Amino acid sequence: MTLNRRLFLSTAAAGAATLTAPALLAAGAGKPRVIVIGGGAGGATVARYIAKDSKGAVDVTLIEPSRAYYTCFFSNLYIGGFKEMDDLGHTYGTLAAKYGINVVHDWAVDVDRDARTVSLAGGASLPYDKLILSPGIDFVDGAVEGWSLASQNAMPHAYKGGTQAELLKAQVAAMPEGGTFAMVAPPNPFRCPPGPYERISMVAHMLKKTNPTAKIIVADPKPKFSKMTLFQEGWLTHYPGMVDWIGEDFGGGNVSVNSDAMTITIDGETTSVDVCNVIPAMKAGRIAEMAGVTTGDWAPINAADMSSKADPDIYVLGDAADQGDMPKSAFAANSQAKVCANAVRGALTGSRVFPAKFTNTCWSLIDTNDGVKVGATYEATEDKIAKVDGFISAPGESADLRKATYVESEGWYAGIVADMFS
Ligand SMILES: Cc1cc2nc3c(=O)[nH]c(=O)nc-3n(C[C@H](O)[C@H](O)[C@H](O)COP(=O)(O)OP(=O)(O)OC[C@H]3O[C@@H](n4cnc5c(N)ncnc54)[C@H](O)[C@@H]3O)c2cc1C
Repeated sequence: MTLNRRLFLSTAAAGAATLTAPALLAAGAGKPRVIVIGGGAGGATVARYIAKDSKGAVDVTLIEPSRAYYTCFFSNLYIGGFKEMDDLGHTYGTLAAKYGINVVHDWAVDVDRDARTVSLAGGASLPYDKLILSPGIDFVDGAVEGWSLASQNAMPHAYKGGTQAELLKAQVAAMPEGGTFAMVAPPNPFRCPPGPYERISMVAHMLKKTNPTAKIIVADPKPKFSKMTLFQEGWLTHYPGMVDWIGEDFGGGNVSVNSDAMTITIDGETTSVDVCNVIPAMKAGRIAEMAGVTTGDWAPINAADMSSKADPDIYVLGDAADQGDMPKSAFAANSQAKVCANAVRGALTGSRVFPAKFTNTCWSLIDTNDGVKVGATYEATEDKIAKVDGFISAPGESADLRKATYVESEGWYAGIVADMFS
């Protein structure tokens, strides 16, 4: 499985901000070696838990190109003006200093499963006993006619952390009075099912204040979406007449864009737009494909321990995994990481392994203090991560309850980033 390094880097650069030479690794002599690829919700959590709980008995290396991880979660709140970009950035120093994790800022560009090594863009080759992949998502080439990564500055996706969200926010702020914001929403399955619709809410929140005659069009290939009743109720209440959602039944899936002309064509009708947020169909981060653990767009896993169905020494977490009934969320990736950490530590050190249990909640903000949520618990079956039971906010809830739900989401954010980085 040899990867063309130049090709890999040209596509991988869509998401990350920095690329550095690999640090020199001093692998712990005689200790079992775990390599984690990707320092996001799944990867940072699993590295931290294995290192913390094994108390130095396992040598953990975390490979992540960016020196700071900017969370996608809460990036819509940044676009809506509720958070600053600095609030979303987190660094890896504590993982290295407190838990002894070897943090290597580089791209993993190849996995040799026979030799059990990972190659880095900087040229190093690192051996592993267990390899954990949590590389997040990449976009399916050609998913939206007229859009490619080369168009991402004119028509941002803002679906990976960092500068893309800044770009999209700046474009919304610069819209002419009464201008048009368009979104091309992705098909299932994709990262953060309520994410596009929370984003519409946050863009509407911003426009209502600065540009109240502006319009928002959403072209959606799906007939329905996560928390649809709650979002549509909120759009009618807070942003009446501003949001035009065009679902599958009305040709929302028959869409093309032209980033030179700044137009979107939905079911044959072409409209000039001022901002076009294209969120293409997604697939597992490319390194999962290069490691040969994907089937189709995602990586099948054994739910009991998150090990790959293709290789018992490789584990896949978070968005890249075929997650069964779980949505692709940071909460889910963090939950899966703890199951995986427990299993990997057990396999390498003989420590006790507990049965897999998973939880998820996805909060969304519709307007100031109007928070809603959906969530569930899950168990591991032979086939998949299977839903046990769930809950969802109800339409027409009191303002106090909606505010409490928003406050709860802030507590969750503080908790998960502490669980990843502190
Ligand atoms: C707008 C938006 C809003 C969201 N809101 C929420 C929310 O409210 N709640 C929630 O739970 N989730 C939310 N999410 C989803 C959440 O961000 C993802 O589901 C979560 O980050 C997935 O974790 P992960 O570990 O799979 O991937 P990521 O967190 O994306 O981490 C992947 C990491 O891998 C690195 N990487 C990739 N390839 C390589 C390589 N070859 N070598 C080395 N490193 C590599 C990347 O640089 C990245 O840092 C939201 C997402 C978006 C886009």
